[in-house]
Amino acid sequence: LDADLAPLKNLPAETLDGEQVALLTNTGLLADISPGLERGAEGIGLYRSEIPFMVHHNFPTEEEQQITYRGVLGAYAPKPVTMRILDIGGDKPLPYFPITEENPFLGWRGIRFTLDYTNIMLEQLRAMMLASRGHNNLKVMIPMFSREDELQRFLQIFELAITQLRDEGRDIQRPQVGVMIEVPSALWLISRVRDQVDFISIGSNDLTQYLLAVDRNNSRVASLYDSLHPSVLMALKFIIMEANRLKLPVSLCGEMAGDPVSVVLLLAMGLRQLSMSAYKIPRIKSLIRHLDINDCQNVLDDVLKLSDEKLMRQRVEDFIKGLG
Ligand code: PEP
Ligand code: MG
Repeated sequence: LDADLAPLKNLPAETLDGEQVALLTNTGLLADISPGLERGAEGIGLYRSEIPFMVHHNFPTEEEQQITYRGVLGAYAPKPVTMRILDIGGDKPLPYFPITEENPFLGWRGIRFTLDYTNIMLEQLRAMMLASRGHNNLKVMIPMFSREDELQRFLQIFELAITQLRDEGRDIQRPQVGVMIEVPSALWLISRVRDQVDFISIGSNDLTQYLLAVDRNNSRVASLYDSLHPSVLMALKFIIMEANRLKLPVSLCGEMAGDPVSVVLLLAMGLRQLSMSAYKIPRIKSLIRHLDINDCQNVLDDVLKLSDEKLMRQRVEDFIKGLG
């Protein structure tokens, strides 16, 4: 399976039974742009916009942001680029804006922060839309979505950005809007926000952390942090079923997207869009081209009967080995 993966670049990620899977890449630094393109990424599924903010020494201006975003959108056009608005706080501090909290992962993070600094959000949305002019391949995504009013308040700023830019005579297009499903409360909001969003994307890193109450960066509890925990798998199954039922496009952009064992299970659940580190794409594409969805579903059924993540992983690894 691991033989020469390079020739895969221009082949589709298609299962043996003809199911197409879209493979996109995660980025944040300009240096991450070409690895994805070289490996045939079909777009950017997660652009972590906090990364350019973190390497700066003060808040970048709208103009500076626009230049950075244009580099990314232009490099991928006409392929889609999903830009996540600023997701600072938690484990992602800004050197020039320290936040001190007892429980940063439960604190002022992601959309909670930018809704308190709507000028930062407005500037960022303006910069993204301006950068997308002529390419029109921008999608905008909200991190740490956990309650409906966050989406409504975001949409007000989003509409304001559009109105302002049009009033200024700038020829911008309205981007698609999506929310990340990474806080457990968001699971039960999917159907409630169905008509206000164009897509959802599962942040399995944070979803695992918050469902299991295990800090994703604490080595003392690292053995408890496992996305194969049956509760995480059941949550993922629910999200994917719900999205498919509502005809709402769904992707997954956490680490699971690049993990072969997880991919077998996610495809079995009905997921058809994955966004991962560029370096993982060839291996995952090769795996998908050896899979049959019915077989994956049998493996998922078996795995859901087990309760020990090591045994679950072993079961899927044995299946993958058997693919030849
Ligand atoms: C996630 O939480 O799974 C995710 C993709 O976002 P981040 O890792 O940047 O928090
Ligand atoms: Mg996250």
